[in-house]
Amino acid sequence: MNKKILITDRFAQDSFLFLQQQGDFDLVRADHPHHLPLEHLVTANALIIRSRTQITEELLKKARQLQLIITCTSGFDHIDLSATEKWGVTVMYTPTANIESAAQLTWGLVLSCANNLHQAHKMVKAGEWKRDLITGIELHGRTYGIIGLGRIGSRVAELAQAFGMNLAAYDPYASDENFERFNIPRLSYEEVLKSADILSFHVPKTLETEHMLNRSHFEYLHRGMILINTSRGSAINENDLGEALSKGWLRAVGLDVFEKEPLPRTSNLLNYPNVVLSPHIGANTEEAFFKASQIAANKLFTFFTDGSTSDTLPPKAAWYGAAPFKRE
Ligand code: NAD
Repeated sequence: MNKKILITDRFAQDSFLFLQQQGDFDLVRADHPHHLPLEHLVTANALIIRSRTQITEELLKKARQLQLIITCTSGFDHIDLSATEKWGVTVMYTPTANIESAAQLTWGLVLSCANNLHQAHKMVKAGEWKRDLITGIELHGRTYGIIGLGRIGSRVAELAQAFGMNLAAYDPYASDENFERFNIPRLSYEEVLKSADILSFHVPKTLETEHMLNRSHFEYLHRGMILINTSRGSAINENDLGEALSKGWLRAVGLDVFEKEPLPRTSNLLNYPNVVLSPHIGANTEEAFFKASQIAANKLFTFFTDGSTSDTLPPKAAWYGAAPFKRE
């Protein structure tokens, strides 16, 4: 029997054609990721989504034929997983597709911060050539602190080693092998904060990680530290970060994710020249887009062919059971 698949957001044409060639799928593309056409939603057997499509209980009530949701993302806080469990809808995600792109963007922000590239760029564009005002730091021999030694954190760590940096990492849920692989000890959160010259966050959004960097920590961070967040905006209290910036405690900050997205025009983060901002583009490489689409297409095909699943949500990870993020 034909399965109706509603694709709500960007999806690679090659993967679309791959599914079309299987012959068993009636593929429909929605015009808008937020406003799904009701006539298709009520009859869809599967949704292929990205983070712009919010899966709520309201939506699930309408989608009466729905068996499967695949999100072409590694984050999943756009999906109400207690509702999908309640309504018996299988959910899968594509957490391996974005590892390289998110790690690379993290390093893009690190390098911009370390060399003041963002300020140098602005200066030259403004017709100025004040070379003495732009002085960077060298990373070699410094300590890179990683919070969350999972898929992306580990790739970021590999790249830090390639730069000749020492590593320090905090992750209470990662296996010993994750640490042994880099030949580094398990440290406490405070130990990493105190030792890192560069600190980056690679944690999921949970109750435990919410505002895990706040006023109580800024006072004992290395003065002149570079702080990066490409994971979830909720990990850093932005008000407290603004205070630390106004006191001159940080050399530079690179952020791809924010407490509220899009970042409000009133955000104090817009006022500091040593803050580099990007609009949540950690997954936005050509390769990540194609990988996520094809992984999703393969998962969908095997699910409807032999019922097999992989990368199901809620995740089986210990951190999820310990402190899942509760949707408001
Ligand atoms: P992952 O699950 O592989 O790694 C997350 C790690 O965080 C795990 O090892 C886990 O044990 C650890 N962790 C959980 N709770 C913790 C806590 N309280 N303290 C310290 N560590 C904790 O996930 P990943 O694929 O590496 O992704 C990391 C984050 O990056 C996710 O939030 C994901 O949504 C985000 N992400 C953002 C972009 C972007 O566009 N900016 C792209 C891809 C992924």
